[in-house]
Amino acid sequence: MCARMARCFAMMLLPGSVMDKGEIVKVKQKKETTKKEKRPVVGIFSMTSCSGCQIRMLDMEDWLIDLFKLCNVVHFPLVKKHEHADHYDIAIIEGAVTTEDELTEVKQIREKSSFVIALGTCATYGGIPSIKDYGYREEIEKTVYPEPVPFIHNLGVCGVYPHIQIDYFLRGCPPDKDEIKRVLLDLINGKKSPKNFDDPVCAECRAKGNDCFLQKGQLCMGPVTYSGCGALCPSMGYLCYGCRGPLDDANVHSLIHIFEQCHVSEDDIRRMFIKFAGTSKKFREAHNLCKITAVK
Ligand code: SF4
Ligand code: SF4
Ligand code: SF4
Repeated sequence: MCARMARCFAMMLLPGSVMDKGEIVKVKQKKETTKKEKRPVVGIFSMTSCSGCQIRMLDMEDWLIDLFKLCNVVHFPLVKKHEHADHYDIAIIEGAVTTEDELTEVKQIREKSSFVIALGTCATYGGIPSIKDYGYREEIEKTVYPEPVPFIHNLGVCGVYPHIQIDYFLRGCPPDKDEIKRVLLDLINGKKSPKNFDDPVCAECRAKGNDCFLQKGQLCMGPVTYSGCGALCPSMGYLCYGCRGPLDDANVHSLIHIFEQCHVSEDDIRRMFIKFAGTSKKFREAHNLCKITAVK
């Protein structure tokens, strides 16, 4: 053993010295605790949903481990036992609000959270569950409950907004993986306002050189729908069904006029507008233009 190493060992063994073995362990633990505490606390919550948005996050297997290293994920129903925190730096809410209990829960989450993300179209607009409020409620309830039940405690379906303030809408049914990753990384790195999208799906679709369904007389919602999915459906040979919801300045009048020239029934046009985001102001307006009245 060299003289320098011997001196080091001697210092470690001195009683009361900061180099005492116990102290070394404590300093190390303190460092680890401080490092852990600095990680943003994240909670992922689920309301009425198919859990597809959470599954979309699980599907990011190449990045999920990194996410767990970068953040302290304390609540993630599909992944781990429920834990609750006093404060969440980032709260991610999947699913529509359909009951009083869910309404109370989302308000509590908002109160405890610095930044709240609506994950997916159900959380943003009510999504597919909201279809039942458009004239199908009785029919759907009878199908789900063929035998009469004493009560169904069900609010009118809508997204988490307008019940609480939302800081970012991760639109889509389910949302795009790259967007989820980009937004979370922005927040983890301290960026307060991740970039949002403000172009229609058509912009991404034309950039990819796809043939246009609308020009062939088929109902495509691309012109009025938020981009960000990379025009996924038209690029795979399917119509855009508007799952990312309406652009703020969407010209639904003009699109209805084009749809009418496609010689399809009023019912088909109406369904296009209520499928994912029928509770949104723009698609409700379009739905009303199709002379159908929503059930409150
Ligand atoms: S947005 Fe789509 S994938 Fe996500 S929970 Fe709702 S129905 Fe499921
Ligand atoms: S196929 Fe649909 S999304 Fe693509 S350009 Fe035509 S209308 Fe727009
Ligand atoms: S193309 Fe339309 S329906 Fe398909 S993912 Fe994008 S917004 Fe949703």
